[in-house]
Amino acid sequence: MHIRFSSLLALVTALAGSMALITQPSAAQNNDTQSSQAAAKPEDTEIWEPVPVVVTPGKNNTAPPSDAIVLFDGKNLDEWVSVQDKSPAKWLVADGVVTVNKAVGNIETKRKFRDYQLHIEWKVPANITGSGQARGNSGVFLASTGPDDGGYELQVLDPYNNKTYVNGMAGSIYKQAIPLVNPGRKPGEWQTYDVVWTAPVFEADGSLKSPAYVTVFFNGVLVQNHFQLKGETLYIGQPFYRKFDAAPIKLQAHGDPSQPISFRNIWVRELR
Ligand code: MG
Repeated sequence: MHIRFSSLLALVTALAGSMALITQPSAAQNNDTQSSQAAAKPEDTEIWEPVPVVVTPGKNNTAPPSDAIVLFDGKNLDEWVSVQDKSPAKWLVADGVVTVNKAVGNIETKRKFRDYQLHIEWKVPANITGSGQARGNSGVFLASTGPDDGGYELQVLDPYNNKTYVNGMAGSIYKQAIPLVNPGRKPGEWQTYDVVWTAPVFEADGSLKSPAYVTVFFNGVLVQNHFQLKGETLYIGQPFYRKFDAAPIKLQAHGDPSQPISFRNIWVRELR
């Protein structure tokens, strides 16, 4: 079949014209949008349900709000066990404070958590000695996934004039995320971590469905901003994920010889 070039050109032009009619709003449609905006009322975009649950805040912003689970209020370690054998935690409680007992090792919560908001306070003793990772080392494992240091560690370390690798300093996600700034206080002064933890989610076959995320305020200053974790925090080697469901929160008794640090005022709010 012989088609003249001029006929083909006319066909293409006609097709292009009808495509333009399909994809571009007509003048009438533009007028409709403008008139519906003109008729819109403020209440069209108001949402009234669901009404957020009332939570009574603490007497200050470090005290537990009414829906928090208090993990340590200065009196006892009833919420905690030894990681090693799940026996009662044997760290030293005195004067409203719990101090690491390096001889007995890590402790973790009896309860298991998924997503949560955590508040915890810690203090490196004024008489601290040592340097780098051997100066006030401890840690808050946001999910404890095994014995010893298995899990996801938010590092605790003397942050004041204490040089170390920056992805291992206080406020770091150990060997994964450098803190954005260093708002650390001197030894002998109390420090706070406020954490938002989004646990990783796994498929039934153990593959990763969605990674863990963490946001951390250190002494009220943002140091981790919705950081996406690469897996568990490891001392040696590259991080990777291992399937778990809910997990305890774990505190580290680090093996270095420096004086043990203390914790106080620990509470958590589960997020659903
Ligand atoms: Mg540590």
